Amino acid sequence: MKSIFEPARELKVRAEVDVLVVGAGPAGIMAAEAAAQDKNLKVMLIEQRGYMGGNLTIGLPILSFLGPKGNQVVKGGAQKFIDRMWAKGAASEHKPCKNHMSLTIIDPDQAKTVAWEIMDDAGVEVLLYVFVVDTIVENGKVKGVVIESKAGREVILAKTVIDCTGDGDVAFRAGVECNKGDENGGMQPPTLMFLMRGVEMQKLRDAICLEPEKFDMDVMPPSQFREGKFITVGLRGRILEAQQKGYNIPVARTILITGLNDDEIWVNMTRVSGVDSTDPVSYTKGEHDARKQMYDVMAYLKDFVPGFENSWLERSAAFMGIRESRVIVGKYVMTAQDILEQKRFDDAIAVAGYPVDIHHAKGGDCTMLFCEDAYQIPYGVLVPQTIEGLLVAGRCSAMDHEAMAATRVMSTCMALGEAAGTAARIAIADGVEPSAVDVAKVQKALIDNDAYLAL
Ligand SMILES: Cc1cc2nc3c(=O)[nH]c(=O)nc-3n(C[C@H](O)[C@H](O)[C@H](O)COP(=O)(O)OP(=O)(O)OC[C@H]3O[C@@H](n4cnc5c(N)ncnc54)[C@H](O)[C@@H]3O)c2cc1C
Repeated sequence: MKSIFEPARELKVRAEVDVLVVGAGPAGIMAAEAAAQDKNLKVMLIEQRGYMGGNLTIGLPILSFLGPKGNQVVKGGAQKFIDRMWAKGAASEHKPCKNHMSLTIIDPDQAKTVAWEIMDDAGVEVLLYVFVVDTIVENGKVKGVVIESKAGREVILAKTVIDCTGDGDVAFRAGVECNKGDENGGMQPPTLMFLMRGVEMQKLRDAICLEPEKFDMDVMPPSQFREGKFITVGLRGRILEAQQKGYNIPVARTILITGLNDDEIWVNMTRVSGVDSTDPVSYTKGEHDARKQMYDVMAYLKDFVPGFENSWLERSAAFMGIRESRVIVGKYVMTAQDILEQKRFDDAIAVAGYPVDIHHAKGGDCTMLFCEDAYQIPYGVLVPQTIEGLLVAGRCSAMDHEAMAATRVMSTCMALGEAAGTAARIAIADGVEPSAVDVAKVQKALIDNDAYLAL
Protein backbone atom coordinates (compact mmCIF):
# COMPACT_ATOMS: atom_id res chain seq x y z
CA MET A 1 0.00 0.00 0.00
CA LYS A 2 1.23 3.51 -0.86
CA SER A 3 2.13 5.65 2.20
CA ILE A 4 3.06 9.23 3.05
CA PHE A 5 5.10 10.64 5.91
CA GLU A 6 3.16 12.62 8.54
CA PRO A 7 5.42 15.27 10.09
CA ALA A 8 5.55 15.45 13.91
CA ARG A 9 3.23 18.11 15.32
CA GLU A 10 2.29 19.57 18.66
CA LEU A 11 -1.04 18.29 20.04
CA LYS A 12 -3.33 20.23 22.34
CA VAL A 13 -4.05 18.50 25.69
CA ARG A 14 -7.84 18.66 25.94
CA ALA A 15 -8.03 17.23 29.48
CA GLU A 16 -5.99 15.75 32.32
CA VAL A 17 -7.96 13.27 34.44
CA ASP A 18 -7.39 10.56 37.01
CA VAL A 19 -9.33 7.79 35.27
CA LEU A 20 -10.15 7.80 31.57
CA VAL A 21 -12.62 5.18 30.34
CA VAL A 22 -12.65 4.65 26.57
CA GLY A 23 -15.86 3.20 25.10
CA ALA A 24 -19.32 3.68 26.63
CA GLY A 25 -20.77 0.20 26.16
CA PRO A 26 -21.97 -1.96 29.06
CA ALA A 27 -18.41 -2.37 30.39
CA GLY A 28 -17.46 1.30 30.02
CA ILE A 29 -20.59 2.70 31.69
CA MET A 30 -20.01 0.48 34.71
CA ALA A 31 -16.27 1.21 34.81
CA ALA A 32 -16.80 4.97 34.82
CA GLU A 33 -19.51 4.81 37.47
CA ALA A 34 -17.36 2.61 39.73
CA ALA A 35 -14.24 4.78 39.35
CA ALA A 36 -16.24 7.91 40.16
CA GLN A 37 -17.29 6.51 43.53
CA ASP A 38 -14.13 8.19 44.84
CA LYS A 39 -15.30 11.80 44.74
CA ASN A 40 -11.70 13.06 44.85
CA LEU A 41 -11.08 11.64 41.39
CA LYS A 42 -11.72 13.24 38.04
CA VAL A 43 -13.28 10.56 35.83
CA MET A 44 -13.96 10.93 32.13
CA LEU A 45 -15.80 8.62 29.72
CA ILE A 46 -15.25 9.05 25.99
CA GLU A 47 -17.19 7.48 23.14
CA GLN A 48 -17.02 7.57 19.34
CA ARG A 49 -20.79 7.54 18.79
CA GLY A 50 -23.39 10.21 19.69
CA TYR A 51 -24.83 8.12 22.52
CA MET A 52 -23.76 5.77 25.28
CA GLY A 53 -24.76 2.11 25.48
CA GLY A 54 -22.75 0.22 22.86
CA ASN A 55 -24.52 -3.09 22.24
CA LEU A 56 -27.13 -2.26 24.90
CA THR A 57 -28.73 -0.17 22.12
CA ILE A 58 -29.05 -2.71 19.28
CA GLY A 59 -32.05 -4.71 20.44
CA LEU A 60 -30.39 -7.43 22.49
CA PRO A 61 -31.62 -8.81 25.79
CA ILE A 62 -29.10 -8.92 28.65
CA LEU A 63 -28.36 -12.59 29.19
CA SER A 64 -27.49 -14.48 32.35
CA PHE A 65 -28.09 -12.22 35.29
CA LEU A 66 -29.02 -15.66 36.63
CA GLY A 67 -26.71 -18.66 36.66
CA PRO A 68 -27.35 -22.29 35.67
CA LYS A 69 -28.80 -23.04 39.12
CA GLY A 70 -31.25 -20.16 38.90
CA ASN A 71 -29.67 -17.87 41.51
CA GLN A 72 -28.65 -14.32 40.60
CA VAL A 73 -24.91 -14.22 39.85
CA VAL A 74 -24.53 -10.68 38.50
CA LYS A 75 -25.58 -7.93 40.89
CA GLY A 76 -23.79 -4.70 41.90
CA GLY A 77 -23.75 -1.86 39.39
CA ALA A 78 -25.35 -3.99 36.67
CA GLN A 79 -28.42 -4.69 38.83
CA LYS A 80 -28.57 -1.00 39.79
CA PHE A 81 -28.69 -0.20 36.06
CA ILE A 82 -31.65 -2.59 35.75
CA ASP A 83 -33.31 -1.06 38.84
CA ARG A 84 -33.24 2.32 37.06
CA MET A 85 -34.65 0.68 33.90
CA TRP A 86 -37.38 -1.03 35.95
CA ALA A 87 -38.33 2.33 37.48
CA LYS A 88 -39.05 3.55 33.93
CA GLY A 89 -40.86 0.38 32.88
CA ALA A 90 -37.98 -0.10 30.43
CA ALA A 91 -36.85 -3.64 31.31
CA SER A 92 -38.44 -7.02 31.93
CA GLU A 93 -37.83 -9.31 34.89
CA HIS A 94 -34.82 -11.66 34.77
CA LYS A 95 -36.72 -14.50 33.10
CA PRO A 96 -35.12 -17.94 33.61
CA CYS A 97 -34.25 -19.80 30.39
CA LYS A 98 -32.78 -23.27 29.91
CA ASN A 99 -30.60 -22.16 27.00
CA HIS A 100 -29.52 -18.64 28.09
CA MET A 101 -29.75 -19.04 31.90
CA SER A 102 -31.87 -15.88 31.95
CA LEU A 103 -32.95 -13.07 29.67
CA THR A 104 -33.72 -9.47 30.61
CA ILE A 105 -35.39 -7.54 27.81
CA ILE A 106 -34.48 -3.86 27.75
CA ASP A 107 -35.69 -0.81 25.84
CA PRO A 108 -32.60 0.13 23.78
CA ASP A 109 -33.51 3.80 23.69
CA GLN A 110 -34.06 4.08 27.45
CA ALA A 111 -30.67 2.42 27.97
CA LYS A 112 -29.11 5.54 26.45
CA THR A 113 -31.09 7.80 28.82
CA VAL A 114 -30.26 5.72 31.88
CA ALA A 115 -26.56 5.82 30.96
CA TRP A 116 -26.75 9.63 31.05
CA GLU A 117 -28.52 9.55 34.42
CA ILE A 118 -25.84 7.28 35.87
CA MET A 119 -23.02 9.49 34.58
CA ASP A 120 -24.70 12.67 35.85
CA ASP A 121 -25.31 11.18 39.31
CA ALA A 122 -21.76 9.83 39.51
CA GLY A 123 -20.19 13.10 38.36
CA VAL A 124 -18.48 11.57 35.33
CA GLU A 125 -17.50 13.93 32.51
CA VAL A 126 -18.76 12.48 29.22
CA LEU A 127 -17.29 13.36 25.83
CA LEU A 128 -19.01 11.94 22.75
CA TYR A 129 -17.98 11.97 19.10
CA VAL A 130 -14.31 11.34 19.81
CA PHE A 131 -12.40 8.35 18.50
CA VAL A 132 -9.22 7.06 20.13
CA VAL A 133 -6.56 6.61 17.47
CA ASP A 134 -3.36 6.31 19.50
CA THR A 135 -1.83 6.20 22.97
CA ILE A 136 0.87 8.09 24.82
CA VAL A 137 3.20 5.48 26.33
CA GLU A 138 6.29 6.38 28.37
CA ASN A 139 8.60 3.85 30.01
CA GLY A 140 6.13 1.00 29.60
CA LYS A 141 3.20 2.95 31.08
CA VAL A 142 0.14 4.37 29.32
CA LYS A 143 -0.06 8.10 30.09
CA GLY A 144 -3.04 8.99 27.92
CA VAL A 145 -4.67 8.67 24.52
CA VAL A 146 -4.76 10.58 21.25
CA ILE A 147 -8.27 11.36 20.04
CA GLU A 148 -9.63 12.57 16.70
CA SER A 149 -12.82 14.59 16.34
CA LYS A 150 -14.22 17.59 14.49
CA ALA A 151 -11.92 19.59 16.78
CA GLY A 152 -8.91 17.83 15.26
CA ARG A 153 -6.26 15.66 16.87
CA GLU A 154 -5.91 16.13 20.66
CA VAL A 155 -4.60 14.37 23.74
CA ILE A 156 -6.27 13.31 27.00
CA LEU A 157 -3.83 12.49 29.79
CA ALA A 158 -4.80 10.10 32.59
CA LYS A 159 -3.28 8.31 35.58
CA THR A 160 -5.16 5.17 34.54
CA VAL A 161 -6.89 4.35 31.27
CA ILE A 162 -9.58 1.66 31.08
CA ASP A 163 -10.06 0.20 27.61
CA CYS A 164 -13.72 -0.73 27.13
CA THR A 165 -13.76 -0.39 23.33
CA GLY A 166 -14.74 -4.02 22.70
CA ASP A 167 -11.99 -4.16 20.08
CA GLY A 168 -9.13 -3.46 22.53
CA ASP A 169 -8.21 -0.35 20.53
CA VAL A 170 -6.30 1.35 23.35
CA ALA A 171 -4.40 -1.77 24.36
CA PHE A 172 -3.51 -2.58 20.77
CA ARG A 173 -2.24 0.96 20.10
CA ALA A 174 -0.21 0.81 23.32
CA GLY A 175 1.55 -2.32 22.08
CA VAL A 176 -0.25 -4.89 24.23
CA GLU A 177 -0.19 -8.33 22.65
CA CYS A 178 -3.66 -9.16 21.32
CA ASN A 179 -5.25 -12.25 19.77
CA LYS A 180 -8.13 -12.63 17.35
CA GLY A 181 -10.38 -15.67 16.94
CA ASP A 182 -9.64 -19.39 16.96
CA GLU A 183 -6.40 -21.15 15.96
CA ASN A 184 -7.08 -20.15 12.34
CA GLY A 185 -8.03 -16.57 13.23
CA GLY A 186 -11.70 -17.38 12.64
CA MET A 187 -13.94 -15.01 14.60
CA GLN A 188 -17.61 -15.34 15.49
CA PRO A 189 -19.55 -13.55 12.77
CA PRO A 190 -21.38 -10.26 13.36
CA THR A 191 -25.12 -9.64 13.06
CA LEU A 192 -27.26 -6.68 12.06
CA MET A 193 -30.23 -6.84 14.44
CA PHE A 194 -33.66 -5.71 13.24
CA LEU A 195 -37.08 -5.17 14.78
CA MET A 196 -40.33 -6.59 13.35
CA ARG A 197 -43.67 -5.26 14.56
CA GLY A 198 -47.20 -6.45 14.00
CA VAL A 199 -46.22 -10.01 15.01
CA GLU A 200 -49.14 -12.11 16.24
CA MET A 201 -47.41 -13.48 19.32
CA GLN A 202 -50.14 -15.89 20.38
CA LYS A 203 -49.93 -17.63 17.01
CA LEU A 204 -46.18 -18.08 17.43
CA ARG A 205 -46.56 -19.32 21.03
CA ASP A 206 -49.25 -21.79 19.96
CA ALA A 207 -47.14 -23.16 17.12
CA ILE A 208 -44.18 -23.84 19.43
CA CYS A 209 -46.28 -25.27 22.25
CA LEU A 210 -48.71 -27.33 20.18
CA GLU A 211 -46.40 -28.61 17.42
CA PRO A 212 -42.98 -28.98 19.10
CA GLU A 213 -41.73 -31.48 16.47
CA LYS A 214 -42.26 -28.97 13.70
CA PHE A 215 -41.32 -25.83 15.66
CA ASP A 216 -38.45 -27.38 17.66
CA MET A 217 -36.64 -25.35 20.33
CA ASP A 218 -33.31 -27.17 20.80
CA VAL A 219 -32.80 -27.65 24.56
CA MET A 220 -35.73 -25.48 25.64
CA PRO A 221 -39.03 -27.08 26.69
CA PRO A 222 -42.01 -25.76 24.67
CA SER A 223 -43.73 -24.76 27.95
CA GLN A 224 -41.13 -21.98 28.30
CA PHE A 225 -42.92 -20.20 25.45
CA ARG A 226 -46.42 -20.37 26.88
CA GLU A 227 -46.13 -16.93 28.54
CA GLY A 228 -43.72 -14.13 29.33
CA LYS A 229 -40.66 -12.97 27.40
CA PHE A 230 -38.66 -15.49 25.37
CA ILE A 231 -35.89 -16.13 22.89
CA THR A 232 -36.49 -18.83 20.31
CA VAL A 233 -33.46 -20.86 19.29
CA GLY A 234 -34.53 -23.55 16.89
CA LEU A 235 -37.05 -24.00 14.10
CA ARG A 236 -34.24 -25.78 12.27
CA GLY A 237 -36.69 -27.76 10.17
CA ARG A 238 -38.43 -24.61 8.99
CA ILE A 239 -35.10 -23.13 7.86
CA LEU A 240 -34.12 -26.34 6.05
CA GLU A 241 -37.46 -26.40 4.24
CA ALA A 242 -37.08 -22.73 3.26
CA GLN A 243 -33.52 -23.32 2.04
CA GLN A 244 -34.69 -26.27 -0.05
CA LYS A 245 -37.23 -23.95 -1.64
CA GLY A 246 -34.49 -21.47 -2.54
CA TYR A 247 -34.65 -19.03 0.37
CA ASN A 248 -31.27 -17.59 1.29
CA ILE A 249 -30.92 -18.02 5.08
CA PRO A 250 -27.43 -17.57 6.61
CA VAL A 251 -28.14 -19.42 9.88
CA ALA A 252 -29.25 -22.88 11.01
CA ARG A 253 -31.50 -21.67 13.83
CA THR A 254 -34.30 -19.14 14.04
CA ILE A 255 -33.39 -16.67 16.80
CA LEU A 256 -36.28 -14.39 17.74
CA ILE A 257 -36.39 -12.17 20.83
CA THR A 258 -39.58 -10.68 22.23
CA GLY A 259 -39.53 -6.91 22.72
CA LEU A 260 -41.17 -5.00 25.56
CA ASN A 261 -44.34 -4.47 23.47
CA ASP A 262 -46.52 -7.48 22.71
CA ASP A 263 -46.24 -7.35 18.92
CA GLU A 264 -42.44 -6.84 18.79
CA ILE A 265 -39.74 -9.31 17.81
CA TRP A 266 -36.05 -8.47 17.51
CA VAL A 267 -34.49 -10.78 14.92
CA ASN A 268 -30.94 -12.08 15.44
CA MET A 269 -30.47 -13.96 12.15
CA THR A 270 -28.31 -12.03 9.72
CA ARG A 271 -24.74 -13.28 9.93
CA VAL A 272 -21.75 -12.34 7.81
CA SER A 273 -18.75 -14.64 7.99
CA GLY A 274 -15.19 -13.36 7.71
CA VAL A 275 -15.80 -9.80 8.95
CA ASP A 276 -13.00 -8.10 10.89
CA SER A 277 -14.33 -5.04 12.75
CA THR A 278 -10.82 -3.59 13.01
CA ASP A 279 -10.66 -3.29 9.20
CA PRO A 280 -13.10 -0.65 7.87
CA VAL A 281 -13.24 -2.21 4.39
CA SER A 282 -14.25 -5.55 5.88
CA TYR A 283 -16.74 -3.97 8.31
CA THR A 284 -18.29 -1.91 5.49
CA LYS A 285 -18.75 -4.95 3.28
CA GLY A 286 -20.28 -6.74 6.26
CA GLU A 287 -22.83 -3.95 6.80
CA HIS A 288 -23.73 -4.10 3.08
CA ASP A 289 -24.14 -7.90 3.07
CA ALA A 290 -26.09 -7.94 6.35
CA ARG A 291 -28.54 -5.34 5.03
CA LYS A 292 -29.27 -7.58 2.02
CA GLN A 293 -29.60 -10.62 4.30
CA MET A 294 -32.16 -8.76 6.42
CA TYR A 295 -34.68 -8.86 3.54
CA ASP A 296 -33.99 -12.57 2.86
CA VAL A 297 -34.61 -13.39 6.53
CA MET A 298 -37.77 -11.28 6.57
CA ALA A 299 -39.14 -13.21 3.58
CA TYR A 300 -38.45 -16.47 5.42
CA LEU A 301 -40.18 -15.29 8.60
CA LYS A 302 -43.28 -14.15 6.75
CA ASP A 303 -43.58 -17.38 4.72
CA PHE A 304 -42.50 -20.02 7.26
CA VAL A 305 -42.98 -18.78 10.83
CA PRO A 306 -46.53 -18.49 12.24
CA GLY A 307 -47.39 -15.01 13.49
CA PHE A 308 -45.20 -13.10 11.04
CA GLU A 309 -47.65 -13.07 8.12
CA ASN A 310 -48.73 -9.44 8.62
CA SER A 311 -45.62 -8.12 10.34
CA TRP A 312 -43.44 -5.29 9.08
CA LEU A 313 -39.90 -4.03 9.47
CA GLU A 314 -39.95 -1.33 12.15
CA ARG A 315 -36.23 -0.53 12.12
CA SER A 316 -32.76 -1.97 11.92
CA ALA A 317 -30.08 -1.37 14.55
CA ALA A 318 -27.80 1.64 14.12
CA PHE A 319 -24.82 -0.62 13.46
CA MET A 320 -23.97 -4.26 12.88
CA GLY A 321 -23.04 -5.85 16.23
CA ILE A 322 -19.60 -7.39 16.59
CA ARG A 323 -19.38 -10.65 18.52
CA GLU A 324 -15.62 -11.04 18.48
CA SER A 325 -12.44 -9.22 17.53
CA ARG A 326 -9.29 -8.51 19.56
CA VAL A 327 -8.75 -9.84 23.06
CA ILE A 328 -5.67 -8.90 25.06
CA VAL A 329 -3.08 -11.24 26.49
CA GLY A 330 -3.46 -10.51 30.18
CA LYS A 331 -1.74 -11.51 33.41
CA TYR A 332 -4.22 -14.38 33.27
CA VAL A 333 -5.89 -15.72 30.13
CA MET A 334 -9.13 -17.48 30.95
CA THR A 335 -9.95 -20.73 29.13
CA ALA A 336 -13.09 -22.72 28.41
CA GLN A 337 -11.73 -25.38 30.77
CA ASP A 338 -11.72 -22.84 33.64
CA ILE A 339 -15.37 -22.20 32.89
CA LEU A 340 -16.52 -25.77 32.41
CA GLU A 341 -14.66 -26.94 35.53
CA GLN A 342 -15.77 -23.86 37.47
CA LYS A 343 -12.22 -23.19 38.61
CA ARG A 344 -11.94 -21.12 41.80
CA PHE A 345 -9.78 -17.99 41.89
CA ASP A 346 -8.48 -16.20 45.00
CA ASP A 347 -8.54 -12.97 42.99
CA ALA A 348 -12.12 -13.44 41.67
CA ILE A 349 -13.66 -10.09 40.76
CA ALA A 350 -16.80 -11.31 39.00
CA VAL A 351 -19.08 -14.33 38.70
CA ALA A 352 -20.79 -15.32 35.47
CA GLY A 353 -23.27 -17.98 34.45
CA TYR A 354 -23.45 -17.98 30.66
CA PRO A 355 -22.34 -21.12 28.79
CA VAL A 356 -19.74 -21.26 26.03
CA ASP A 357 -21.78 -20.22 22.98
CA ILE A 358 -19.73 -20.15 19.79
CA HIS A 359 -21.41 -18.97 16.62
CA HIS A 360 -19.29 -20.74 14.02
CA ALA A 361 -16.82 -18.47 12.21
CA LYS A 362 -17.74 -19.95 8.83
CA GLY A 363 -21.47 -19.41 9.41
CA GLY A 364 -24.46 -21.66 9.92
CA ASP A 365 -24.63 -23.26 13.34
CA CYS A 366 -23.46 -22.79 16.89
CA THR A 367 -21.65 -24.84 19.55
CA MET A 368 -23.03 -24.66 23.10
CA LEU A 369 -21.10 -26.06 26.07
CA PHE A 370 -23.19 -25.83 29.21
CA CYS A 371 -21.76 -25.52 32.73
CA GLU A 372 -23.26 -27.09 35.82
CA ASP A 373 -22.94 -23.94 37.85
CA ALA A 374 -21.72 -20.34 37.66
CA TYR A 375 -17.99 -19.63 37.48
CA GLN A 376 -15.56 -17.03 38.81
CA ILE A 377 -13.45 -14.63 36.73
CA PRO A 378 -10.03 -13.57 38.09
CA TYR A 379 -8.64 -10.02 38.24
CA GLY A 380 -5.75 -11.01 35.96
CA VAL A 381 -7.98 -10.98 32.84
CA LEU A 382 -8.28 -7.19 33.17
CA VAL A 383 -4.54 -6.53 33.45
CA PRO A 384 -2.35 -6.50 30.32
CA GLN A 385 0.69 -8.71 30.65
CA THR A 386 3.22 -6.15 29.57
CA ILE A 387 2.12 -2.58 30.20
CA GLU A 388 1.20 -0.42 33.22
CA GLY A 389 -1.43 2.30 33.61
CA LEU A 390 -4.05 0.31 31.70
CA LEU A 391 -6.95 -2.03 32.47
CA VAL A 392 -9.07 -3.75 29.81
CA ALA A 393 -12.71 -4.66 30.51
CA GLY A 394 -15.56 -6.16 28.50
CA ARG A 395 -15.40 -8.52 25.55
CA CYS A 396 -11.73 -7.64 24.88
CA SER A 397 -10.53 -8.83 28.32
CA ALA A 398 -8.03 -11.70 28.36
CA MET A 399 -9.94 -14.81 27.28
CA ASP A 400 -9.28 -17.52 24.76
CA HIS A 401 -11.67 -17.91 21.81
CA GLU A 402 -13.98 -20.35 23.64
CA ALA A 403 -13.97 -18.55 27.00
CA MET A 404 -14.86 -15.20 25.45
CA ALA A 405 -17.79 -16.94 23.78
CA ALA A 406 -19.17 -17.25 27.33
CA THR A 407 -17.99 -14.06 29.04
CA ARG A 408 -19.00 -11.78 26.15
CA VAL A 409 -22.60 -11.42 27.34
CA MET A 410 -23.51 -7.99 28.63
CA SER A 411 -24.18 -8.87 32.28
CA THR A 412 -20.63 -10.25 32.54
CA CYS A 413 -19.13 -7.30 30.64
CA MET A 414 -20.88 -4.99 33.11
CA ALA A 415 -19.44 -6.90 36.07
CA LEU A 416 -15.95 -6.77 34.52
CA GLY A 417 -16.34 -3.03 33.91
CA GLU A 418 -17.36 -2.41 37.49
CA ALA A 419 -14.36 -4.41 38.71
CA ALA A 420 -11.96 -2.44 36.50
CA GLY A 421 -13.34 0.94 37.62
CA THR A 422 -13.17 -0.13 41.26
CA ALA A 423 -9.58 -1.38 40.89
CA ALA A 424 -8.52 1.82 39.12
CA ARG A 425 -9.83 4.07 41.88
CA ILE A 426 -8.34 1.95 44.69
CA ALA A 427 -4.96 1.78 42.91
CA ILE A 428 -4.86 5.58 42.56
CA ALA A 429 -5.88 6.11 46.19
CA ASP A 430 -3.13 3.70 47.31
CA GLY A 431 -0.52 5.16 44.94
CA VAL A 432 0.12 1.89 43.08
CA GLU A 433 -0.28 0.68 39.52
CA PRO A 434 -3.49 -1.27 38.79
CA SER A 435 -1.32 -4.35 38.25
CA ALA A 436 -0.21 -4.11 41.92
CA VAL A 437 -3.55 -3.20 43.47
CA ASP A 438 -4.61 -4.99 46.64
CA VAL A 439 -7.24 -7.31 45.10
CA ALA A 440 -8.73 -8.08 48.52
CA LYS A 441 -9.58 -4.38 48.83
CA VAL A 442 -11.16 -4.45 45.35
CA GLN A 443 -13.22 -7.50 46.30
CA LYS A 444 -14.40 -5.84 49.51
CA ALA A 445 -15.38 -2.65 47.66
CA LEU A 446 -17.29 -4.70 45.06
CA ILE A 447 -19.15 -6.63 47.75
CA ASP A 448 -19.91 -3.33 49.54
CA ASN A 449 -21.60 -2.27 46.29
CA ASP A 450 -23.64 -5.50 46.41
CA ALA A 451 -21.63 -7.35 43.74
CA TYR A 452 -21.75 -11.13 43.84
CA LEU A 453 -18.35 -12.85 44.01
CA ALA A 454 -18.98 -16.13 45.86
CA LEU A 455 -20.49 -19.23 44.37
C1 LIG B 1 -25.28 -9.90 17.28
C2 LIG B 1 -24.91 -10.03 18.71
C3 LIG B 1 -25.76 -10.70 19.56
C4 LIG B 1 -25.46 -10.75 20.91
N1 LIG B 1 -26.38 -11.27 21.75
C5 LIG B 1 -26.29 -11.00 23.06
C6 LIG B 1 -27.40 -11.18 23.91
O1 LIG B 1 -28.47 -11.61 23.48
N2 LIG B 1 -27.25 -10.85 25.21
C7 LIG B 1 -26.07 -10.41 25.74
O2 LIG B 1 -26.00 -10.15 26.95
N3 LIG B 1 -24.98 -10.23 24.94
C8 LIG B 1 -25.08 -10.47 23.62
N4 LIG B 1 -24.03 -10.23 22.77
C9 LIG B 1 -22.71 -9.87 23.32
C10 LIG B 1 -22.63 -8.45 23.84
O3 LIG B 1 -23.52 -7.59 23.17
C11 LIG B 1 -21.21 -7.84 23.69
O4 LIG B 1 -20.21 -8.80 23.85
C12 LIG B 1 -21.05 -6.75 24.76
O5 LIG B 1 -21.94 -5.70 24.47
C13 LIG B 1 -19.64 -6.22 24.84
O6 LIG B 1 -19.65 -5.11 25.72
P1 LIG B 1 -18.45 -4.08 25.70
O7 LIG B 1 -18.82 -3.00 26.66
O8 LIG B 1 -17.19 -4.83 25.90
O9 LIG B 1 -18.41 -3.55 24.19
P2 LIG B 1 -19.48 -2.75 23.30
O10 LIG B 1 -20.88 -3.02 23.71
O11 LIG B 1 -19.11 -3.10 21.90
O12 LIG B 1 -19.13 -1.22 23.58
C14 LIG B 1 -17.91 -0.67 23.14
C15 LIG B 1 -18.09 0.83 23.04
O13 LIG B 1 -16.81 1.42 22.71
C16 LIG B 1 -16.97 2.37 21.67
N5 LIG B 1 -15.68 2.44 20.96
C17 LIG B 1 -15.09 1.44 20.28
N6 LIG B 1 -13.90 1.83 19.80
C18 LIG B 1 -13.74 3.11 20.17
C19 LIG B 1 -12.68 4.05 19.98
N7 LIG B 1 -11.56 3.73 19.33
N8 LIG B 1 -12.84 5.31 20.48
C20 LIG B 1 -13.98 5.65 21.17
N9 LIG B 1 -14.99 4.79 21.39
C21 LIG B 1 -14.87 3.52 20.92
C22 LIG B 1 -18.09 1.80 20.83
O14 LIG B 1 -18.70 2.81 20.05
C23 LIG B 1 -19.02 1.24 21.90
O15 LIG B 1 -19.95 2.18 22.37
C24 LIG B 1 -24.26 -10.20 21.41
C25 LIG B 1 -23.37 -9.57 20.53
C26 LIG B 1 -23.69 -9.47 19.20
C27 LIG B 1 -22.78 -8.74 18.30
